[in-house]
Amino acid sequence: MPRHSLLDRLARHSAERAQAGLLRRLRTFDHADGPWLESGERRLLSFYSNDYLGLAQHPQLIAAFKRVADDEGVGSGSAHLICGHRAEHAALEEALAEWTGRERALLFSTGYMANLGVMQALLQDGDLCVQDKLNHACLLDGAKIASAELKRYPHADVAAAARQLTSRSDAAALLATDGVFSMDGDIAPLRELAALCQRESATFMVDDAHGLGVLGDDGAGSLSAAALGESDVPVLMATLGKALGCHGAFVAGSAALIEGLVQSARTYIYTTAMPSAVAAAALASVRVARAESWRREKLVALIARFREGAGQLGLALMPSSTAIQPLMLGDASAASAAARTLEERGFLVGAIRPPTVPQGKARLRITLSAMHEEEHVDRLLDALAGLASGVAPTGPV
Ligand SMILES: *Cc1c(COP(=O)(O)O)cnc(C)c1O
Repeated sequence: MPRHSLLDRLARHSAERAQAGLLRRLRTFDHADGPWLESGERRLLSFYSNDYLGLAQHPQLIAAFKRVADDEGVGSGSAHLICGHRAEHAALEEALAEWTGRERALLFSTGYMANLGVMQALLQDGDLCVQDKLNHACLLDGAKIASAELKRYPHADVAAAARQLTSRSDAAALLATDGVFSMDGDIAPLRELAALCQRESATFMVDDAHGLGVLGDDGAGSLSAAALGESDVPVLMATLGKALGCHGAFVAGSAALIEGLVQSARTYIYTTAMPSAVAAAALASVRVARAESWRREKLVALIARFREGAGQLGLALMPSSTAIQPLMLGDASAASAAARTLEERGFLVGAIRPPTVPQGKARLRITLSAMHEEEHVDRLLDALAGLASGVAPTGPV
């Protein structure tokens, strides 16, 4: 038999996706200006990004970035363990450890790489990795590259997680969950999961990509909000590219964990360190995020306003108290059509479809940010009302 062509197979796979109306589309935007995104002639009000605190364009972040780029240039030149690790990285790691109440923190170039690196370093063949079904793709991929046995429990079902852990009580085990679920916006049952892990001697890992900066008194994240410390959750991972408005990620925990990652996490060892200007901007961002609590308060008020208005319209809200406010539509083509209609009316929201979410659970992913004003939320609600009733919203956008 002739060998199959890999490129042909890939093209067939894309054609199948197109056939199913599930093609992913790369868009280029010309300019970002606060909550506005410009595309060609159009200026669209975005409820689309993860810049929950509105920090990506904060003057203090931009100034820190420019100062270090002027001083040191752009690229770090090598991996952290060669000569890419600078004072800016070290200062950022210290600030992140202090903020999250952990002994140490270690920077990774992206959240995806952080999760792969942690899991590959911790887990071995034959270990057990128990995860929420709705965890982010990179947590699932991490368990796969570590060749651990991956068991996925139904969303937020602590009893099912307990059964999965006890089914192999002899195996070394890691339980990993998103703190805030990226497509649903709800918060994991963190205290119950922490207690379960204590009881079962499993290591607990939380990915707080959508909680850091947003939850907790000074934005220290979902673990701080749940009053869980390093002994409850020994492995904390979070990103710098969402609420912190920068790029990159980190893992925080005991000095022993961090030292182990430095020795063993391949996505840490074998990759170029993030530019030091990015680290400097992220350090500025940590300071602003902690100090400017009005951003969290404003976000909370906007979330409440959105939920109240959407409730009055009878929209199918999901049980989320966070900046991620999905509207469940079910059918993938309905989600795409709704996002298209909203865009015609001047709004950008995400249409999230399988396989990112399960079949039949397509939705609009609406994200709120401290850079929105009440009036923006009201306009979006008007547009959603028009969508629900099939009529155009009143008022210009
Ligand atoms: C975005 C995200 C990541 C990946 O982080 P990047 O820095 O964008 O690679 C990991 N986990 C969760 C839950 C995320 O939402």
